[in-house]
Amino acid sequence: MPRNPGPGPTLWPVSDRLIDSFGRVHRDLRISVTDRCNFRCRYCMPAEGLEWLSREGLLTFEEIERVARLLVEDYGVESIRLTGGEPTVRARLPTLVKMLARLPVDLCLTTNGATLDTMASPLAEAGLKRINVSLDSLRRDRFEELTLRDGLPAVLAGVDRAIEAGIDPVKVNVVVMRGVNDDEILAFARFGRERGVVVRFIEFMPLDADEEWSDRSVVSQSEIISTIAGAFPLVPVERTSAPATRFRYEDGGGEVGVIASVTEQFCDSCDRVRLTADGQFRNCLFAVDEFDMRGLLRSGATDSEIGEMLERAVGSKWAGHGIGTVDFIRPARSMSQIGG
Ligand code: SAM
Ligand code: SF4
Repeated sequence: MPRNPGPGPTLWPVSDRLIDSFGRVHRDLRISVTDRCNFRCRYCMPAEGLEWLSREGLLTFEEIERVARLLVEDYGVESIRLTGGEPTVRARLPTLVKMLARLPVDLCLTTNGATLDTMASPLAEAGLKRINVSLDSLRRDRFEELTLRDGLPAVLAGVDRAIEAGIDPVKVNVVVMRGVNDDEILAFARFGRERGVVVRFIEFMPLDADEEWSDRSVVSQSEIISTIAGAFPLVPVERTSAPATRFRYEDGGGEVGVIASVTEQFCDSCDRVRLTADGQFRNCLFAVDEFDMRGLLRSGATDSEIGEMLERAVGSKWAGHGIGTVDFIRPARSMSQIGG
């Protein structure tokens, strides 16, 4: 039961799980801690012109912790991923990690790795267990073209420092785009095998701020896997509710995965909910409706009232995003504003 039930005809939680009308149980929470970023990846943010949220508009660490605690303690959420924008540009991020690490959850961070060289140790000491570093080219000139920052050496150093700090696993996320970096699929497979990191290839999704996405720019899971398997034979690993389709190298060289949001949609096993940096609760990355958690938190709501909103939000979740169908609607906000 909630710790602070309010008056009213119904006390939430009605259930001890967040279950939608399709029977999907929600166990994974993605929290965006900022909409700002020190990179400008062309598949995510425009080079200029995005307006930032005001400082007052951001949820405070205490507000984030309250929502996270409720989801973990009252609704059985088991994993939390911090994201953004670039989460490491939020001041005092290790303090938030420390607050959330007290909860019984699998706590993870997705970062562009630009400052990981100095941040990895403080984050590990604060209790961060797992990390995903986004890296879309191993060629310095191309990396700069893609991010508008000459950041490859810093990101590679950051990956090494995260491993040294004992963060395990360290995974590398690669968004593959046709004609942009699809000639580096094998180079990334070798990189993962040599450094002992799991590489996750991500299909390009229609969430880029410049709206340049088209289905022709997507490199499919089957193409990615057959490219890798041609050089390093692969064996499928049984799927979980996690978004990646996983494979292990037959020769024991580790694991590789693909997040195939476009060509092999996994909405029927989705267990994710999201909280944006400005406190909007979302039941899907592609949702067109948001639920104003910040307004509720700042109006003195009880845990029961917050639980009622969480259950209403999850209860209204759709079957799937429908990318590639006539039903698909592009969300009003881009990836960096929602939190990937
Ligand atoms: N700044 C951090 C980073 O880059 O890892 C966290 C936020 S970023 C929005 C989260 C993830 O979304 C990254 O792995 C990024 O590559 C991915 N991403 C961003 N835009 C994307 C798009 N249009 N399609 C597929 N993945 C995208
Ligand atoms: Fe920044 Fe991450 Fe978006 Fe790149 S993908 S612009 S690093 S938020």
